[in-house]
Amino acid sequence: MRPGHRPRHRRLAGDPPRLRDRDPGTGGLSMSEVMSRPIPAPPVTVESKPFWDAASEGRFLIKRCTACAKAHWYPRTICPFCASDATVWEESPGEGEVYSFSIMRRSPTGPYALAYVTLNEGPRVLTNIVDVTPEDLRIGMRVKVRFQETEGEGPPAPVFAPA
Ligand SMILES: [Zn+2]
Repeated sequence: MRPGHRPRHRRLAGDPPRLRDRDPGTGGLSMSEVMSRPIPAPPVTVESKPFWDAASEGRFLIKRCTACAKAHWYPRTICPFCASDATVWEESPGEGEVYSFSIMRRSPTGPYALAYVTLNEGPRVLTNIVDVTPEDLRIGMRVKVRFQETEGEGPPAPVFAPA
């Protein structure tokens, strides 16, 4: 990542404390299966509603600041780089590459991958990688967003799969 461009990642509710390199426990589960994960319905706030409305239409939105021209994630009203409130929604193709990942093996629904994906536009997204086996997942792998149905009545959530 470029110097001076490091976004501060505040923890989101439900995230693990930090990404570990490898979870040593396998739970006896096969590691050759393609990973997936049930996702709970996301909380929709006034600030995030445009994002989820677009997600329901299969469109991936990020936010860009018109004062400093930088894009950021997750979407915020106030630019995390220059504190301007001149932020606008921008549709993204949702393409990028895996920056880091952690295979979470102690899951009742099977292993899943938590990862940071660096979007082509620059921001880094904490997300799940799906449709890849634990053996095939690699740092630097090109991935693309897709939307996965969530539990309950919530909107679909963005996940990433090999491009
Ligand atoms: Zn800015």
